[in-house]
Amino acid sequence: MARSKGKRANQDPAVADEAQAAEPVRKKPRPAKIVEYLCNICAHKKPSDSFPDAKSTNIPPSCRGCLGTDSGRICHSCVSNWTSETAAKYAGRSPEEIACLACGDTWPYEYVKMHLSGEDLDRYEARLLRYALREDLNFRWCPAADCEAGYIHERNTNRCRKITCGACEVASCYHCEIVWEARHDCKEHRGEVDPETLKTLQEQQARQCPECGIAVTKISGCDDIHCESCGESFDWASAKLVGGG
Ligand SMILES: [Zn+2]
Ligand SMILES: [Zn+2]
Ligand SMILES: [Zn+2]
Ligand SMILES: [Zn+2]
Ligand SMILES: [Zn+2]
Repeated sequence: MARSKGKRANQDPAVADEAQAAEPVRKKPRPAKIVEYLCNICAHKKPSDSFPDAKSTNIPPSCRGCLGTDSGRICHSCVSNWTSETAAKYAGRSPEEIACLACGDTWPYEYVKMHLSGEDLDRYEARLLRYALREDLNFRWCPAADCEAGYIHERNTNRCRKITCGACEVASCYHCEIVWEARHDCKEHRGEVDPETLKTLQEQQARQCPECGIAVTKISGCDDIHCESCGESFDWASAKLVGGG
């Protein structure tokens, strides 16, 4: 109680005036001059705190300098816009696709996601997951023993699961990734997933597409699943769990 009374006494305007009068005459401090820089992207003049600096935690340390140098500053909002636009176009082919717009260095996932929210973030994470599970869902190595060719098979419907290698002309099954023998039946070749991938898929409660048998994961959305591999639709709830008995 005594303390709070003393504090109030100090704030008394009369006391404050006395204290000021007792002090030697000083110049009134001038407000700090606002430094403005020009953004190289949006061409707007903005105060210095609108630009990345050494303390910008949403930018990789190596890029805090390159986005905030005198030779070419890029404002925070341009950095964020650019990052979310790039992430929206991110196809999941390689994590190197999202790079600094000044120096071209790859931005690690943890920095990219700080500029994303909502659907953008969901989509980006889904793409990263897709990359982690398989670099490209449409990519296939030729299963022929002596062939080292690989190819992107875009028309991945069940009707054209038989694909012929452009290098060795050996036919293989797109789904099973084995050489196509006479009377090939995909159902006989399911479930050959390596243990590490299988573990990941089980943790994610992945389901098997009832049509083609490929593992499908769901990030969000309704139970009506469209299989990206064969194009079939199936019900998530009733589909078999990957690795489940
Ligand atoms: Zn800008
Ligand atoms: Zn950079
Ligand atoms: Zn081949
Ligand atoms: Zn097959
Ligand atoms: Zn399918």
